[in-house]
Amino acid sequence: MDGDFQPLHATDFVLLGLSGRAWLALLLLLALGFFGYVIARRFQILRAAKRPDPRFGEWGQRLGRVLTVFLGQKKMFREPLPGLMHALIFWGFLVYAVRTITLFASGFAPQLDVPVNVWGNLYFVTKDTFALLVSLGCLYWFYQRVVVRKPRLTHSPKALLILGLILLLMVTDLLIDGALIAYEGENPRGGWAYASAATASLLGALGLPSSALKGVYYASWWVHALAILVFLNYLPLGKHFHVITALPNVFFYKTRPQGQMEKLDVEGAFERDETLGLQTIRELSWRDVLDLFSCTECGRCQAECPAYASGKILSPKEIILELRDHAYEEIPLFGKPQEPRDVVPLSVKPEEIWACTTCMACVEACPIEINQLDKILEMRRNQVMMKDEYPEFFVEVFKGLDGRGNPWNLTPDARMEWTKGLDVPVLGELAAQKANPDGGSHDKQPGEEIDYLFWVGCATAFEPRNQRAARSFVQILQKAGVKFAILGEEESCTGDPARRIGHEYLFQIQAERNVETLNRYGVKRIVTMCPHCYNTLKNEYPDFGGHYEVVHHTELIDELIAQGRIQLSKELRKRITYHDSCYLGRYNKVYDPQRRAIDAIPGAQRVEIARSRSKGMCCGAGGGLMWVEEEPGKEVNQLRLQQILEAQPEVLATSCPFCMIMMEDGIKNKGVELESRDIAELVAEAMEDSNAPSRD
Ligand code: SF4
Ligand code: SF4
Repeated sequence: MDGDFQPLHATDFVLLGLSGRAWLALLLLLALGFFGYVIARRFQILRAAKRPDPRFGEWGQRLGRVLTVFLGQKKMFREPLPGLMHALIFWGFLVYAVRTITLFASGFAPQLDVPVNVWGNLYFVTKDTFALLVSLGCLYWFYQRVVVRKPRLTHSPKALLILGLILLLMVTDLLIDGALIAYEGENPRGGWAYASAATASLLGALGLPSSALKGVYYASWWVHALAILVFLNYLPLGKHFHVITALPNVFFYKTRPQGQMEKLDVEGAFERDETLGLQTIRELSWRDVLDLFSCTECGRCQAECPAYASGKILSPKEIILELRDHAYEEIPLFGKPQEPRDVVPLSVKPEEIWACTTCMACVEACPIEINQLDKILEMRRNQVMMKDEYPEFFVEVFKGLDGRGNPWNLTPDARMEWTKGLDVPVLGELAAQKANPDGGSHDKQPGEEIDYLFWVGCATAFEPRNQRAARSFVQILQKAGVKFAILGEEESCTGDPARRIGHEYLFQIQAERNVETLNRYGVKRIVTMCPHCYNTLKNEYPDFGGHYEVVHHTELIDELIAQGRIQLSKELRKRITYHDSCYLGRYNKVYDPQRRAIDAIPGAQRVEIARSRSKGMCCGAGGGLMWVEEEPGKEVNQLRLQQILEAQPEVLATSCPFCMIMMEDGIKNKGVELESRDIAELVAEAMEDSNAPSRD
């Protein structure tokens, strides 16, 4: 230590007649002033978004989400290594928040620095550890961006600039303390700041005089402070806005069932001359805008999107970025806000929204709770109901739904075809018997006298391949002694295809009709083979006065096996894999009953597809795409089949009539040896005294 030793303090100087403290105050004023201005402009976008979106309630659930998804970075770990590297940077940010505040505060008053006591030491050892871990994270992402050029990421110099800034912050942080320790000759953090001490040793090894160490200290301190202010101002200008908005975005996540679409007052909107669906940024909600601000451009949603993977124009990441850029153009940082313009086709191409299978893989994958699907569906609603513009494939679907209550446009009596030769009770007939004085008790409605109303669904009732599965299910119900009935010709499509395509009005007609029928019979419990019907009956009909206990047939089968009401004794020595249905899995988190049912079959060997459960890929039929002809070479079902074949199964088990149709088509077109069976068919075949219809 030199004889003229003075304790160092970064603002102890005078430059151009101004003290260091005055320079710091000026810098802070400028930086915070500009930051405040930008935030105020961004806030204008939030205010321009007029759609109401009440999310003030369920505080416990919201807090839980913040703990797991935000602080715990849970969704990031769907990809363990990249997840860890991001989490290190994120957790480092939290640790460095304390350092940032104390650094600026101590610039004005040295005593406001982190104290030298056991807590201070604990903090410094943590901070030093994170300086190294965050640097490691930055180097990892530099490598991914520059060398690997990871496809799901948006590659731009801006992202590299931010990584460079973060790395600069870590290096200068270590240099501030390292130079201080080297200059003062002892570690003011009592030796706990081990990385800073190592930096001091390094500087010492260079043999720098005190004046140079002083210079390193001052330069690092000011470069660090400047870098923080540049970083802060850069945040709301690009994708790093998520550093600020991710917390509220996660906190205000959708607590309603994921698969529930918002009910629209269609007639009221027409009467009031209001816009239906998402047309301009005015029809976004404040929470939608938070989504747009929060996108990190990580591409996790895009990487799991079946439409993108099969070569379609749609990328859920781009949907969010296109909407964000649209909003930024209309309410720019400088200059007057523009008149709202239509987002479709100006920023989002119609082909993008019509390529979506509504599989929800994007929503599930997003680490910060962005909902891409809801925005696509709102744009569809606008295209269909306000502009009458949609692919012509849907003309027939709407016609069938409107005229005959099913998208196949078949006559209602065709719904009963599959029951020929089976003893399947029809609820209307039971009700008629009840009306007869000898028909039974009078204190209950017919719907209450059965265990379950079997909601067959159009895809099961009208498609010959699925009719076989329905017959197997009836066999199981009868064997287990479950009292059930169907609605027969009184059943009508739940309206799910109409709603997902965007025709809310048509959906509501179906929903009201069905709820009226079900309530008239006093139905309490429903079992269905169709995950789309399941989702609509369970999550969407309550909005229309239909409150039922809804189970999927695989859930009921699982329960019947567990209760010993059906015995599986016939061996099925096959490698069986299960393809998760999106509307059962991601929409309703039902992943296990189907697997347990397979495991209960003697001799069956269950193998998993690499992409399964919440990562499972769609068959390509959802969102009305069942009726859309895909371009050759871009079929989602072929892509999914390829993934399935990699597990080398002999049997493909499904639990959805739509998946069954898509996968059977894929198998036929590819010409591969693979049996596709509904879970009900497999279980019925394995039942004691089974006379289940064989595959052929
Ligand atoms: S819902 Fe599925 S198909 Fe639609 S954008 Fe998301 S991932 Fe892609
Ligand atoms: S929407 Fe979510 S998953 Fe998709 S790029 Fe943005 S942050 Fe990533």
